[in-house]
Amino acid sequence: MLRLDNLSLPLDWTMATLTEAVLRKLRISADMLQSLTLAKKSVDARDKTDVHFVLSVDVKVKNEDAVCKRLKPGVAHRVNPPVIPPLQKARFLHPPVVVGAGPAGLFAALTLAQAGANPILIERGRPVEDRTQDVAAMQARGELDPDSNVQFGEGGAGAFSDGKLTTGTKSPYIRTVLQTFVDHGAPEDILYLSKPHIGTDRLKGVVASMRREIIRLGGTVLFETRLTELIVRASHVEGVRVQCRGEEREILTDCVLLAIGHSARDTMQRLFQQGVMMVQKPFAMGVRIEHPQALISQSQYGRSWQHPALGAADYKLSVHTPDGRGVYTFCMCPGGEVIAAASQVEGLCVNGMSYHARAGRNANAALLVGVHPGDYGDDHPLAGFVWQRSIEQAAYLLGGGGYKAPVQRVEDLLSGRATTRLGDVLPTYQPGVTPADLRDCLPDFIIENLKVGIRGMDGQLRGFAHPDAVLTGVETRSSSPVRLNRERATLMAEGLDGLFPVGEGAGYAGGIVSAAVDGIVAARAAMERSLI
Ligand SMILES: Cc1cc2nc3c(=O)[nH]c(=O)nc-3n(C[C@H](O)[C@H](O)[C@H](O)COP(=O)(O)OP(=O)(O)OC[C@H]3O[C@@H](n4cnc5c(N)ncnc54)[C@H](O)[C@@H]3O)c2cc1C
Repeated sequence: MLRLDNLSLPLDWTMATLTEAVLRKLRISADMLQSLTLAKKSVDARDKTDVHFVLSVDVKVKNEDAVCKRLKPGVAHRVNPPVIPPLQKARFLHPPVVVGAGPAGLFAALTLAQAGANPILIERGRPVEDRTQDVAAMQARGELDPDSNVQFGEGGAGAFSDGKLTTGTKSPYIRTVLQTFVDHGAPEDILYLSKPHIGTDRLKGVVASMRREIIRLGGTVLFETRLTELIVRASHVEGVRVQCRGEEREILTDCVLLAIGHSARDTMQRLFQQGVMMVQKPFAMGVRIEHPQALISQSQYGRSWQHPALGAADYKLSVHTPDGRGVYTFCMCPGGEVIAAASQVEGLCVNGMSYHARAGRNANAALLVGVHPGDYGDDHPLAGFVWQRSIEQAAYLLGGGGYKAPVQRVEDLLSGRATTRLGDVLPTYQPGVTPADLRDCLPDFIIENLKVGIRGMDGQLRGFAHPDAVLTGVETRSSSPVRLNRERATLMAEGLDGLFPVGEGAGYAGGIVSAAVDGIVAARAAMERSLI
């Protein structure tokens, strides 16, 4: 198999024009070409007058050695797909328990099920399809605006909400994650797009299909089942205690994969009391910023911005700041919405999502400032949660209650005044917003860094500091403020045999793909241990 990179093609390219370009590059005739598949597709918009695609393709050709001999260096190279060691049949005394059905838990449970381990996956929330009915019921009861687009993922708050599958991590298992999503109904283009995206609306089906597969392979999935504590004897895990629809239960096991996410504050508190070792870690905090999507697409794509092959443009920006914290954009949602992501009563935090079509009027992204343990006000491992909570409560009050969010126009933030009325950009956050001054809920150092960031980013993306662009408060859960200590070799918790801390909540992932990869790797480590 040969890989050809950096094939520049116009926006209206077809498979026919691509094939011609490949035949020209390889200097072969059409009958020599056996197969051609897209390996990578990205947009090159550096020159706004010549926005085009850059493709990589994998091709199978007759007499590959002879073809390669004739090619100049760099035209093509042989591809060797990552070697994934085969799964060995696991040997657990009792079925392993996976806690949390986010990407880390779901992929851990699927990997264990594929190895015949009959895992038990417990999730405190409810299945995604039930949560969709919840929304309809709340709308019927008038608690939510009839056309509001509040979304729930499986179990926890929006764990799969947007489904952007970009990641900065490198792992041979990334391909396994993407292929698994495709096997369960995700669009094929996630296998080659440089910025793969499934979309909230398509994800529900993918997640439910993966869950059915776990059950088909002998696994058990228990919803509305919350881990309350571990059963530990002489530093060995012997089981878990759970609350299942109000009833206390014990599940015997010597293997627990803990994938509880960054918002399980109650569970983390109990684990800390049980002696599970954990430390504070840095994360980032800020707001969501919203612009008209048309403005972003025009700034990114110039006169080609409405070409149907392009879709809504995205951006990824960062600015160094004098105090070294830095400001960056995160989880950008083209044509998406700002959504509620709170998990505690009278606490408010926001996040973002978009449907597969990305056809909404606004673009939004998290605008985050680096924060670190020194900001948490105490050196207790869980102090970061307390600090987050205090800011979320302040935002709730500033929004005026009812989970309305405080908003401020960019011009007002930069001029140091409260917003009293909104301009041309209408926020998408539901159930509603309250014009405010975000200095009343966020620390000064965050506000000052946001100002420096917005001015700096306006130089990178024209219109970023649009006076009517809207800032919605507060984005407090970009990742977890705590890490559970785990041994590098076994991936088990330090000093506690049989516990595998996994994913974002354990402090070892940020985002869907890296959490899923961590789930796979931890499941394999648990299986290796079962074979000892
Ligand atoms: C609105 C929103 C949109 C996002 N969009 C994207 C995106 O587009 N791309 C991206 O890469 N990332 C995105 N993220 C971040 C991404 O969702 C997380 O990084 C990822 O889900 C982390 O996976 P995880 O499995 O470690 O934890 P989670 O997905 O948080 O899953 C943890 C699960 O554990 C359950 N749980 C917690 N405590 C217990 C307990 N005691 N007992 C049983 N179950 C428990 C929770 O209910 C939850 O379902 C988004 C996040 C949000 C909130």
